[in-house]
Amino acid sequence: MADRFPTARYVEAMNHYIPYGRQSINQDDIDAVVEVLRSDWITQGPAIERFEQAVANYCGAKYAVAVSSATAALHIACLAVGLGQGDILWTSPNTFVASANCGLYCGAKVDFVDIDPRTYNLSVSELERKLAWAEKQGCLPKVIVPVHFAGQSCEMEQIHALAQRYGFRIIEDASHAIGGSYHGQSIGCCQFSDVTVFSFHPVKIITTGEGGMVLTNQEDLYQKLIRLRSHGITRNVDLMQGKPDGSWYYEQLDLGFNYRMSDIQAALGVSQLQRLDEFVKRRRFLAERYNQMLQGLPVVLPWQHPETESSRHLYVIRLKLDKINKTHHQVFEELRQAGIGVNLHYIPVHTQPYYQQLGFNLGDFFEAESYYQESISLPIYYELPVDSQSQIVTFLKKVLEK
Ligand SMILES: *Cc1c(COP(=O)(O)O)cnc(C)c1O
Repeated sequence: MADRFPTARYVEAMNHYIPYGRQSINQDDIDAVVEVLRSDWITQGPAIERFEQAVANYCGAKYAVAVSSATAALHIACLAVGLGQGDILWTSPNTFVASANCGLYCGAKVDFVDIDPRTYNLSVSELERKLAWAEKQGCLPKVIVPVHFAGQSCEMEQIHALAQRYGFRIIEDASHAIGGSYHGQSIGCCQFSDVTVFSFHPVKIITTGEGGMVLTNQEDLYQKLIRLRSHGITRNVDLMQGKPDGSWYYEQLDLGFNYRMSDIQAALGVSQLQRLDEFVKRRRFLAERYNQMLQGLPVVLPWQHPETESSRHLYVIRLKLDKINKTHHQVFEELRQAGIGVNLHYIPVHTQPYYQQLGFNLGDFFEAESYYQESISLPIYYELPVDSQSQIVTFLKKVLEK
């Protein structure tokens, strides 16, 4: 092993393990959190509303509801649009399990639509084909969850047109995509969907430690989301079924949860949001730089849809294995051993044991599976130094050449 690659030397040169993604926290972020800690409210106080307002304004949506994670956001979004027992949710197999699990939480059935081999997003032509089939079978989905993979929007106008025709609701899983745009409009504006969901997990574009948000332009959904976030309880007299018994009175109207975000997290969110454009600018710079430096290597570079601007949450290369004398596993492991925290997004959800036990099989979604066998996410994040990026590329070249 030792003579095959200068692994140890590279680890030394890089001085530390480079993750595929990580947060950036500056003094302003820290000050914002400390300020809340010294205030009267550390949860459900003014920082939550400030954060919600700021994200809604940024995206051009009417309403925003901050919650404890994107997983929680997806769950209450499904409930708000009425997903339940006997219903069906479709999503992409190339996503984190949460995009599908939210359907199961509601007692619905989950199915998948294979991906577009260029964008790695849910394929619109495949969606069209499957909808025509489902209509004949009498098993049309109630909800579709398009996932904006790596920060690049799905083709929302086309998906929206299909929703008009087939009557499903759309929940955008934009966990990767805050700061991106589609047709020149910010992702999150919900022009072509009922609801959009963001994640603020530390590897995502901006962070609140853990956290998520649901955006919508529909007042009825907003009211429902607010209640579902907090036990299904309302203090709004207009929504109550009975007369208020006194000033202490509240009513539980739905079976909700405790999916609240704390003010500590929201204050960090407000501060991070002010840095969002800078974060995305840097990610785009790094992605462009990878594009330049990886020219001519036996890899497929990320394809940019001309109608979208990606937030560049991930930078995925796809190995041309017929032009490389190594397996996907070998390339991946050699990078990892050199301290380069490459990753794989994603293991196709339908191949997870839990989903296989629901009846899915290997071979069900060809494009997602073949993508999985060839893909590698290279490190990309705001604080990634260009020197480290250059070292990653140099090492990758060596690995691919041998
Ligand atoms: C990260 C992620 C989620 C879950 O986000 P959490 O905030 O960790 O719950 C859901 N969907 C996608 C596509 C993600 O990348």
